[in-house]
Amino acid sequence: MQVFLCYLMFVLGVNSLELDIVKIIETNIDDSIDPCDDFYRHACKKDLSKDSVFRNLLSKSYDIEVESMAGKYHTTFFANISDYETLVNSLKINVDQDVTLAKYEYVEKCINNKTEARKMLLELNELIYDEKEGNCCFTNIAYDTKCERAATNLEKGIKIYLEEAYPDAKENWKNYLNYLGNFKAFLWLDANRNTFEKSREIFNKLKEEVSEMIKKTPWLINSNSMEAYLEITNQLMVDTKILVQMNRDVVNEVTEQFQICRRLSSSLTRKYCYAKIEVPTVFEKWNSFNAFNLHPHLNLNNPILSALGSNLPPAIEYGFVGALLGHEFGHTLIKSSRDHMFVPYFSEQVKNCVQNQFNKSCEYFAEGVCRTVDFQFDENGSDLVGVPLAYNVFKREQSCVLNKSIRGYEYCWTPAKLFFYAHAAMHCKRYKLNYMTSVHHSSNIRVNAVLAQMPDFAEVFQCDAKSRMMRSKSKQCFIHGEDAPETFF
Ligand SMILES: [Zn+2]
Repeated sequence: MQVFLCYLMFVLGVNSLELDIVKIIETNIDDSIDPCDDFYRHACKKDLSKDSVFRNLLSKSYDIEVESMAGKYHTTFFANISDYETLVNSLKINVDQDVTLAKYEYVEKCINNKTEARKMLLELNELIYDEKEGNCCFTNIAYDTKCERAATNLEKGIKIYLEEAYPDAKENWKNYLNYLGNFKAFLWLDANRNTFEKSREIFNKLKEEVSEMIKKTPWLINSNSMEAYLEITNQLMVDTKILVQMNRDVVNEVTEQFQICRRLSSSLTRKYCYAKIEVPTVFEKWNSFNAFNLHPHLNLNNPILSALGSNLPPAIEYGFVGALLGHEFGHTLIKSSRDHMFVPYFSEQVKNCVQNQFNKSCEYFAEGVCRTVDFQFDENGSDLVGVPLAYNVFKREQSCVLNKSIRGYEYCWTPAKLFFYAHAAMHCKRYKLNYMTSVHHSSNIRVNAVLAQMPDFAEVFQCDAKSRMMRSKSKQCFIHGEDAPETFF
């Protein structure tokens, strides 16, 4: 009876937005490939149309939401943003053209308004020589009463300087637009706190699960590293406050300088004053489909969080967002071949096991040259920590409905199956897979290597030992938990 009730609640919980995401997953499936043969290519067909790529769709609907929010609230802030955006987009530095315009501007002022002409020269002194007052430099030009000649001299003088001084203006303003984009992202987040809270809920469950596994892990216990490992796990959090502040500080500072430039009277000095404002490189664009670990902060960017606002079935929440959070969690727990200051000791046996699996998946599923390299271990290990971690929590939470069918779709879905499809959908790419160009392994190897390592996957899809997915499995890797290696030290 209890099972039945549980199931009923699950079915009633399905709303129309969920239907869309499940349907996207359905349109990605290639029925001609058996899930036990090559799960990635089964769940993510090769000739996928651009519009059915999961991450594209989520990003697009998020962008629309952010823009419509800007339109709806019409706060001063958004008005300012569009003000800056217009300016920045029009801030095309063309020195030749700019100095010619300045020349005519000076001639006009020189003839009609001597005070304005002198003001322009003072502003140029300040811009170019950092000279606020005094009779230096450009102000001398004011003594020339032949306005055309004076303007030609001015033109020559500023041209040399401007050509040398502003190669990076465009880069600066691109950065600033990114900061403004992040600011919009935080406003969206503020209006959608529920998505963030939901990610925190999932994160806390993953954290509990990891802590329990750490306490039983032989290679941590025997190397006296367990306490340190628990401590760094404890430090992890999903919290955007610091990141919001970082962006707010930059925006405030630049806005202040922006106001100073705005008060300048000449269009040339105004423009080059804007261009002179230095903007630090933006650390991360929160509007992009990405997640990262900036220990102790784990961050899921907004397009990912936005999925949590759609009341998704838990299978998708965990297969997609849970697995992503698990992966980022993994970055703190995996001692990479790159610098890593957190983990005092890392098992060499675990490392070899992970790399061997990715190598073996390469042998079985390569769609081009495929090799597993040392600098990918951090990412490979994080995948092997994160996805099973998310599945374990999901499995426990949803135990009563795990293998019940979900009605209303073309496919015979069960929550257990949907978890794995959601995970593959997140990695599903339309373009040709790239090997060895980044720290991440190619998507097909990432998905297939991890699923080959999960006994739950074999069970849910009833893959027999002869299937390609099962043959591609190297030795079972136990990273954490009582079965992990180094029982005797
Ligand atoms: Zn990563």
